[in-house]
Amino acid sequence: MIRGRCPTCSKSYDIAAIDALPSFPFCSNRCRLVDLGRWIDGKFVIPGSTQAQRPAHAEDEASSDDDAE
Ligand SMILES: [Zn+2]
Repeated sequence: MIRGRCPTCSKSYDIAAIDALPSFPFCSNRCRLVDLGRWIDGKFVIPGSTQAQRPAHAEDEASSDDDAE
């Protein structure tokens, strides 16, 4: 038995095996697509991926990371 919680809607589920839930770790395929859409919309920020090319000047540390794009 595998007990999990959907990252999208926070609904808890119990499944006998991962094979029983093709959308694992999401409760449904719809929630899986919702999560994918969030990534595409840029609502989730991957640490270090988009900001990695910034020049390493000390003064840049004080500026906001949110205005890069
Ligand atoms: Zn869900």
